[in-house]
Amino acid sequence: MASVEDLPGVGSASAKRLAGLGIATVDDLIAHLPVRYLRYDDARPLGRLQTGEEATVRVTVNRIGVRPTRQRRLRMVEAAVSDPTGAAIAIWFNQEYLVRSIAVGSELLLRGTLEPGRPPRFKVKTHEILGDGGPSIGLHTQGLVPVYPATEAVPARRIREMVDAVRPATAEAIEALPTWMRRRLSLPHAGDAFMAMHFPRGPRDPRLGRRRLVLEELIVMQLGLGALRRLEALGRPAPRLDGDGALRLMVRRALPFELTAEQERVGEEITRDLRRDRPMRRLLQGEVGSGKTVVAALAMCQAVESGRQAALLVPTETLAEQHLRTLDTLLAPTGLTPVLMTGKVPKAERERRRMALRTGTASIAVGTQALLSEADAFHTLGLVVVDEQHRFGVEQRQLLADRATDAGAELAAHLLYMTATPIPRTLAITAYGDLQVSTIRGRPPGRAPVETLWVREPDREAAYERIRGELRAGRQAYVICPLVDVGVAAEARAATEEADRLRAGPFSAFTVGLAHGAQKADDKREAMASFAAGVTDVLVATTVVEVGIDVPNATVIIIEGADRFGIAQLHQLRGRVGRGTQPGVCMLFGEPTSDDAIRRLEALTQTTDGFRLAELDLDLRGEGSVLGTRQSGATDLRYARLARDRRELAQARQIARRTLRDDPRLAKPEHALLRAAVRERFHDIPRLLDA
Ligand code: ADP
Ligand code: MG
Repeated sequence: MASVEDLPGVGSASAKRLAGLGIATVDDLIAHLPVRYLRYDDARPLGRLQTGEEATVRVTVNRIGVRPTRQRRLRMVEAAVSDPTGAAIAIWFNQEYLVRSIAVGSELLLRGTLEPGRPPRFKVKTHEILGDGGPSIGLHTQGLVPVYPATEAVPARRIREMVDAVRPATAEAIEALPTWMRRRLSLPHAGDAFMAMHFPRGPRDPRLGRRRLVLEELIVMQLGLGALRRLEALGRPAPRLDGDGALRLMVRRALPFELTAEQERVGEEITRDLRRDRPMRRLLQGEVGSGKTVVAALAMCQAVESGRQAALLVPTETLAEQHLRTLDTLLAPTGLTPVLMTGKVPKAERERRRMALRTGTASIAVGTQALLSEADAFHTLGLVVVDEQHRFGVEQRQLLADRATDAGAELAAHLLYMTATPIPRTLAITAYGDLQVSTIRGRPPGRAPVETLWVREPDREAAYERIRGELRAGRQAYVICPLVDVGVAAEARAATEEADRLRAGPFSAFTVGLAHGAQKADDKREAMASFAAGVTDVLVATTVVEVGIDVPNATVIIIEGADRFGIAQLHQLRGRVGRGTQPGVCMLFGEPTSDDAIRRLEALTQTTDGFRLAELDLDLRGEGSVLGTRQSGATDLRYARLARDRRELAQARQIARRTLRDDPRLAKPEHALLRAAVRERFHDIPRLLDA
């Protein structure tokens, strides 16, 4: 594959800078699509613009500089600009580097909005520097001009020039879709699609180009997921877990509550799956506190009743310990004693437990993923439950499924994934197309409601007074510190300062604990434990409390800098209160600087329905944030955005299904390139499409 270094004017230094944008090869460059288009053709006289109107002007820069604003985090670049008809102050937010790249005296095309003032201010949306003239200037100003994701080191105009240099390769992009498929979906050729995106002229409509690229990507994804389902269906059988229900009955009789109808329903779905000799691959989603653990515990009992072992995998050792305690309580009436397998268990003891699992004398294990790292870790493993599953992508799930077997590797274990991050259906289809999905909606009855308030600065004191009231009544509060970009150390410092401030001032009459990511594990555990035991009244923490901690007596959570958190994270944090019988209150402190941040905070105050919030999150920020980090590999989509491309997703699913029905291995010559694309996309699953 041709490297970008082969292009004229691209040396090893620029290649390194391009790598920062994920561009290493010519193909990457071609795949680097514009985020939008601008039209600069018709520049208007600055002196005759209406305020509030979006327009393009062609101006000269007379002066340029950086100016701090009242909000500390926001810095503004200001330039005095003029054309023969008038003058204005052009402003950009948070792009300080512009003072280095825009020289006084240079000519600019600006697109933006005029705002009243003396002189008026021109809020810049995008700009082009015309200063250097040059032969390629038309590329940057004529017709629909593509705007690319760019960096200071690689500005959009540089990308435009490079893409222009690979025009021939763009037009000849490989056509992976068979003709019949392109006909059925009325799609242009791959080369035409890329040309339409990068060089939209005349009949080359970027919208049609994008649709083609989006559909191709989704089709490849859906073909891969379909092939994966087939691979599983043809793979090892699972043990039928058709136990007599005796253990389950003991657990249920001892519960201090009735299962909800939702728990019963998903419980039955799981029971039915477990009775089959096809390995279950099911995702159980439900909000924090919706009662997934009981459901999982009953499933584990079903495995043991059937003479099989069960394992519960969690992301951290702290969570493992907490789940062990919960399981101990739930399973007490059965006499089953789950074993904990984490790095903290002394070596000799761990070895003893490992033997017990290997020989089958222990029937239930709780631990991190490392539990499955040895091929014969379990004697007769029948079920693996994985908590907080949204951290894995399709490939990691497949790896796990490969490892989850009995010692003879003859039978595949059933798998139940659990997540408290609700996933909208569109997203589930793509991110979890290899799984069945069960959903627990709502929370058990009798759980206290949580009121959410967005508190502005002037009301801070009143908010503290309300919290002191809760504390005096013997209840507890969390204070979550803002996210800090510059790392764990800075975050820890901020949390420490906040704890000191609260001890000295608003909460001086109470004990204030502290937990953050830079602490030694023991100190952190100690801080959490004292809070759980009610020794500390207030726990100041960074987001380390996001998963896992369960303190029913805590009724208040304050989230500082709430505008910097995503919806899913705020919702998770809020789930820390309202776990007992007392109503909870969540106070969001934040002075948002963007419309999206305002919408996020407002949404949190308006609903506690995690599914509605997840849909909104998908619309606002795309799938990355809904699934956690972008690096999670859960969808890894380059062109498609699920919030926007729902129709294309449905079409892709349909066409993928019918393609695999006719040609399950994509073995026909006309499908050869499609097959190659699927295998490349799912390269971690080497046997895909072979079986
Ligand atoms: P999740 O894992 O879904 O976040 P848990 O399983 O930890 O939720 O349940 C949260 C709390 O609700 C636990 O204390 C549990 O005992 C309790 N609980 C579970 N099911 C019910 C129910 N049907 N009625 C009342 N309380 C329940
Ligand atoms: Mg849980």
